[in-house]
Amino acid sequence: MKSRAQLAAEAIVEKLRAEGHDAYFAGGCVRDMLLDRVPEDFDVATSARPDVVLDLFPRTFAVGAHFGVLLVADEIDGEEIVTEVATFRSDGAYSDGRRPDEVRFSDSAEEDVIRRDFTINGMLLDPQILKETGNLPEATLDFVGGRDDLAAGVVRAIGNAEKRFAEDKLRMLRAVRFAARFGFVIEPVTEAAIRTHAESIGQVSCERIRDELTRMLTEGHARRAFELLDQTGLLKQVLPEIDRLHGVEQPPQYHPEGDVWIHTLLLLEKLTEGASPTLAWGALLHDVGKPATFERAPDRIRFNGHVEVGVRIAAEICRRLRFSNEETAQILALVENHMRFGDVERMKESTLKRFFRLSRFPEHLELHRMDCLSSHGDLTLYDYARQRFAATPEEAVKPKLLVTGEDLIAAGYKPGPEFKQMLTAAEDAQLEGRIQTKAQGLALVRRNFPV
Ligand code: ATP
Ligand code: MG
Repeated sequence: MKSRAQLAAEAIVEKLRAEGHDAYFAGGCVRDMLLDRVPEDFDVATSARPDVVLDLFPRTFAVGAHFGVLLVADEIDGEEIVTEVATFRSDGAYSDGRRPDEVRFSDSAEEDVIRRDFTINGMLLDPQILKETGNLPEATLDFVGGRDDLAAGVVRAIGNAEKRFAEDKLRMLRAVRFAARFGFVIEPVTEAAIRTHAESIGQVSCERIRDELTRMLTEGHARRAFELLDQTGLLKQVLPEIDRLHGVEQPPQYHPEGDVWIHTLLLLEKLTEGASPTLAWGALLHDVGKPATFERAPDRIRFNGHVEVGVRIAAEICRRLRFSNEETAQILALVENHMRFGDVERMKESTLKRFFRLSRFPEHLELHRMDCLSSHGDLTLYDYARQRFAATPEEAVKPKLLVTGEDLIAAGYKPGPEFKQMLTAAEDAQLEGRIQTKAQGLALVRRNFPV
């Protein structure tokens, strides 16, 4: 069955053609259809100039008007669908390493294709022919050998790879992302060109780099993506702190899998498609403090303080990549708390409940699970924590307090620095079930803190 997005794009192509313009499906959606994957969105490429498109469709928004890209909104079966419609164009010179200084609109579909990044992303599709014949290959316009590369599983730059990466450095990360996503190889000349230009990836904005990395981490093929980043020399540029995990030995009794890099790759391998971005970054960064704290102690290799150092390094990475405060807080919390599961069976009830109060605790649990499965494989502590968490309702984790500051004042205490200790003592007793009432709570405070 056709998606609404496809129906919307078909209607746009039909209308453009009825007005005498050339129009096709273009890029990623054609690739996905040929791979028998359902495209998330359909992009239309057309010979019609942006002003013509604006006139033709009542609800049109300019997003990249400068590049001839418009968004056309339409309602299909009561759902609002937005389709990107871009005028055929060729790109002028690139001077900032990311975007063309100017573009030239064109009447030629072929010209529009050769400015695209990879052959697998450079195909057009004629939806009318597809409708008439039902034959996907027949409806495909392929000026760049995209179908062969798709069949062979190859990510290949269109045209001169060196030149294409010199123009736009972001394409290097895109090559890795597509290769990882589809399980493709990067064609050798294309890969060599990436290696040549890897050092200049810094010309891409930090936000764009972050977004590409997040996509790589959450598309279900994070291990492959990071192996490719490593192979192409991009990892050293975008995340030197992760590159440093290579060769950092670990104590074999706890980490039979190998060094910290291997361990981290094994975690990445467990991230499923649609994984939460903060969990994914937490997994990537959880041991980032190990290289700096490596020590061959008399008994075994140790990483004393790796959590604290790791939190500092992770904070610097989050700052550099401009993560939001909220995302940063969660990523750092994951790094900061990942070793606490080691104590979980010995925790006092009150400590355990406070542990469960960590925001999005299931992400902490999941990171711990991946951490175990990527090393010794023992899930005893994970199972314990998971069961206890499941069996502890929200109101038991954070109950309404029996004793408050106001109660202390009413009981004759003067507000002061000791209040916090008194309240904590009462709350601990409550969380551990040692007190059931306010009176019992106040009696406990009086015993420990004479007025
Ligand atoms: P995804 O499934 O990740 O959205 P996509 O191929 O649709 O993949 P988009 O970023 O949506 O990727 O871009 C749509 C199309 O625009 C691509 O298929 C490609 O033809 C072209 N394109 C996108 N970014 C670039 C770029 N940096 N350089 C050249 N062409 C690009
Ligand atoms: Mg897309």
